[in-house]
Amino acid sequence: MNTPVPTLAELRKKPHWSFSALNTFLNTCSLQWAFRYVWKLPSVSTPAALVFGGVFHSACTFAFRARLAGRDLPVTPALDLFGDLFGQECRTGEIPVQFREDETVDALIRQGQGMLQTLLADPVCRADRIVAVGEVFQVPLPHASGTEPKPLIGEYDLVVQDAEGCTIVDWKTAARRWPEGKADSDLQPTCYLYARSFADDTPTRFRFDVVTKTAKPTVTHLETVRNEDRFLRLEALLQVVTAMVKAEHFLPSEQSWSCSDCQYAEACNTWHRNRARVSVTSNRAA
Ligand code: SF4
Repeated sequence: MNTPVPTLAELRKKPHWSFSALNTFLNTCSLQWAFRYVWKLPSVSTPAALVFGGVFHSACTFAFRARLAGRDLPVTPALDLFGDLFGQECRTGEIPVQFREDETVDALIRQGQGMLQTLLADPVCRADRIVAVGEVFQVPLPHASGTEPKPLIGEYDLVVQDAEGCTIVDWKTAARRWPEGKADSDLQPTCYLYARSFADDTPTRFRFDVVTKTAKPTVTHLETVRNEDRFLRLEALLQVVTAMVKAEHFLPSEQSWSCSDCQYAEACNTWHRNRARVSVTSNRAA
């Protein structure tokens, strides 16, 4: 009997690294990372953009699973699903959703449905030969685990295949088109192709399918590859980050793009006075 593959939610219950955690630590703010992953401070709100991205992803997964099962892309049901899920998350979710001044639930639903429609009509997406949707991975990181095993976990949105090999596809929503070269320097393809190298010798590329949140949404496909040297660099980064976490070297990144809607802004304001652990201890005791 085959062992059931754990879900991402199950893997997240144990210590782990993910691309998004590593990216928060390295490229957003290490103090925000500590509030979330070490001190587990509850979020006071969630930015609407985060909810939007998660629901967009769920609707894409639903649509492309139908394709994988040999059916046509279910465009109207996917748009309905986006509207239902987003409305539900905004109106009845556990954590209040934080909207910018120019955002409303209905306008965001219309925008998301327009973007979804554009992606599902895209000729490249329609021609892809899909071999997996929402494939979960977990690979060991012995050099970055400290005293306890901490694997790298994540989920490939899509895996597609052609005569030259496989491509891992990741859906992104973005305010505007991504600049030239972003895919080549981005940490996510490095993490995902590193994980893939444990499982499969098939030559594998990575592709971002970026859908813009513009009045007339566009889809851009940005392909990239990684080599062994980039994987060595990732391992070195993880080793240093592990040492920094052990030493509690967490600093506010006050110029971060993330400060304006940071879920931990209040705790951050008093961090230098209380040192975060004291404030978290009293929060937990309350
Ligand atoms: S408010 Fe800015 S500096 Fe403070 S934790 Fe959040 S992202 Fe970091």
